[in-house]
Amino acid sequence: MKCALVTGGSRGIGRAVCLKLAGMGYHILVNYKSNETEAAKTLSLINEKGGSGELLRFDVSDKNDIQKVLGGWIEANADNLIEVLVNNAGIKEDGLLMWMKDAQWDNVIRTSLDGFFYVTRLVLNGGMLLKKYGRIINIVSLSGLKGLPGQTNYSAAKAGVIGATKALAQEVGRRGITVNAVAPGFIKTDMTVALNEKEMKAMIPVQRFGEPEEVAHAVGFLASPDASYITAEVLSINGGLYS
Ligand code: NDP
Repeated sequence: MKCALVTGGSRGIGRAVCLKLAGMGYHILVNYKSNETEAAKTLSLINEKGGSGELLRFDVSDKNDIQKVLGGWIEANADNLIEVLVNNAGIKEDGLLMWMKDAQWDNVIRTSLDGFFYVTRLVLNGGMLLKKYGRIINIVSLSGLKGLPGQTNYSAAKAGVIGATKALAQEVGRRGITVNAVAPGFIKTDMTVALNEKEMKAMIPVQRFGEPEEVAHAVGFLASPDASYITAEVLSINGGLYS
């Protein structure tokens, strides 16, 4: 069975990515942190589309939890390789740096940057390197490219993942593994629900926020076998907001 692991697959962009990859024939490991109801909904949408998957609950900011749950799954599923890894789980805890609490900094860095490291290392060593084939796609952000005020923690975390994407791509290219990043602008999910699209759309050339499916489409492309000569890239999906 060919598997794809999507961290933060219970909602938003992650859910759309799960559905896209399920449509490409992958058995989907739907990771989530705590929202069991939404994770179960993603799984039933996958099943409705004729796909298959399972839920895998672990906290990407907790390396012990990753080792226990994901490591346990890999050990118990020696024949089912994770061919596609989408590091999508992310949070924001905005605030100006001068007033930022330790926890705001730590939580955001741990979820995006530490999460990327511990999950990716496990998946690489858990079969991807041996199989000599893989697709790793990291969901970063416009913030990690441009920097956004009020998001020094989030911008630093995402910029860190962009650097790691480029470095890792050079380490594993010879093993048939590509590593790319996708950098969305403003996408309609729970994360942006408090933003005023009507006011903000004026600064976006296509004059609207994006849909999770529009990000998933790019992830599906980078995950496809045909995208084998694209690696170490950062693909912006932001309606022309920044290039
Ligand atoms: P949502 O807030 O809609 O969903 C977040 C997802 O991440 C949920 O599935 C959540 O699980 C999961 N998650 C959060 N923390 C953890 C954790 N510690 N361990 C495991 N899973 C976790 O976010 P979006 O869909 O909007 O964002 C997805 C990614 O895209 C993020 O990395 C975000 O930074 C990035 N992004 C989003 C943009 C946007 O405009 N929406 C723009 C640019 C980048 P649970 O349901 O259990 O809480």
